[in-house]
Amino acid sequence: STSPDQQRWAVVTGASSGIGAATARRLATEGFRVVMGARRVERLERLAEETGGLAVELDVTDADSVAAFVERVPECHVLVNNAGGAKGTAAVAEADEDDWRWMWETNVLGTLRLTKALLPKLVSCGNGHVLTVTSVAALETYDNGSGYTSAKHAQAALHRTLRGEHLGEPVRFTEIAPGLVETEFSEVRYGGDTERAAAVYRGLTPLTAEDVADVIAFAATRPAHVNLDQIVLKPRDQA
Ligand code: NDP
Repeated sequence: STSPDQQRWAVVTGASSGIGAATARRLATEGFRVVMGARRVERLERLAEETGGLAVELDVTDADSVAAFVERVPECHVLVNNAGGAKGTAAVAEADEDDWRWMWETNVLGTLRLTKALLPKLVSCGNGHVLTVTSVAALETYDNGSGYTSAKHAQAALHRTLRGEHLGEPVRFTEIAPGLVETEFSEVRYGGDTERAAAVYRGLTPLTAEDVADVIAFAATRPAHVNLDQIVLKPRDQA
């Protein structure tokens, strides 16, 4: 067993499903104690029982909730900014401001809030690591997806800026940019339209949440002097 001074702590946002849940499980098997945050706390509690982690309610769009969450984090060596997603698809000409606000609040300001609040702990532990789950939508644009692609571009710009601002400090920064991953998000993206969600995967085998969690765990377990800046992973048959 690990002595308390060797114990490494990880925070995973959006750990109640998909990539975040798989990452919390995977980091636990790597010996991390994982603080899991999301709004659906009963799901986190089940995962906490399974992994020996801590389940803490978190709404990344609410500054008070973020402050209360951070109070419950004893130490933080690794922060996985994973909470996020997409809402609605529409041409720019028909863009829905509420959907845009949701996507920017969750993906961009959520990442900003958690990173700001946990950076002091990440630096003072002497070996911190921020991993942000962006998307290939942070690298390209596509029709009817400007709300999501613009939020993911902004989230990535914020994440990439951190490395320069903290150069010389004991903290690393890795951007994880997945292509299509089969999660609950696949249906959320099309407002519960299962037929349309399934059509996205026609002709290719999507990544699983575990495929992404493997890559996150790999990056988080490199020696402290190694910084993986950006990892793009896609299904083999995704263009
Ligand atoms: P899921 O919908 O399965 O998971 C999204 C997670 O984010 C949930 O745990 C949800 O928890 C959490 N979340 C959403 N809003 C908030 C909030 N306000 N506060 C706290 N947590 C929140 O989707 P994925 O696992 O696919 O998505 C995870 C990340 O991966 C997202 O950033 C997404 O953009 C990105 N991504 C996904 C891809 C895909 O194809 N699936 C591809 C590339 C990137 P709860 O609802 O309980 O709060």
